[in-house]
Amino acid sequence: MPRRKSKAREAVGVGRPVRVVGYQRVDTWGGEEWVVRGVQAGGSTKEYRCPGCDHEVAIGVAHVVVWRADRPEGVAARRHWHTPCWRRRDVAQRRF
Ligand SMILES: [Zn+2]
Repeated sequence: MPRRKSKAREAVGVGRPVRVVGYQRVDTWGGEEWVVRGVQAGGSTKEYRCPGCDHEVAIGVAHVVVWRADRPEGVAARRHWHTPCWRRRDVAQRRF
């Protein structure tokens, strides 16, 4: 049954870690819009300081890069956040 076979082959990919090229979305924080871009594990080659917890984002850890959506220069001021810290940003103190 060739049809069933091809279906099974498709199913193999489900639930496996998929190489994500990267996602981007816009979140709101403090009444402003922020572009949030995901960085996949292994996608970073240096450490960053997370503004949410003031700790380092270790090399190779999946995290998010965030910048102001309404500022043309926002990308230059982008900050690297731990993914859970960005989710908890409403309780984080804004340091920038
Ligand atoms: Zn953090």
